[in-house]
Amino acid sequence: MKVGDAYRCPDNHWARIVWISENGKLIGVKCAQKHFSKMTRVADLTKSRVSPGRYPSRDKKVFVRNLVFLMSVVPTEKTL
Ligand SMILES: [Zn+2]
Repeated sequence: MKVGDAYRCPDNHWARIVWISENGKLIGVKCAQKHFSKMTRVADLTKSRVSPGRYPSRDKKVFVRNLVFLMSVVPTEKTL
């Protein structure tokens, strides 16, 4: 395993290893796919205003790309 290798991100996309810790137990995996980040409230402009200057709000899912995940590597051999 080395930097640049393909690896599965937690959402099961193919991603790239961008960092490996010195002891090899932690890796950073950067995935170019979209990942759900959080819910946020935004003004819903498709509905009529409740009152002047106020719009109804709705929940919107926020997705981000190119997240880097820190993942622990499951050892293939027992070190004990
Ligand atoms: Zn992913």
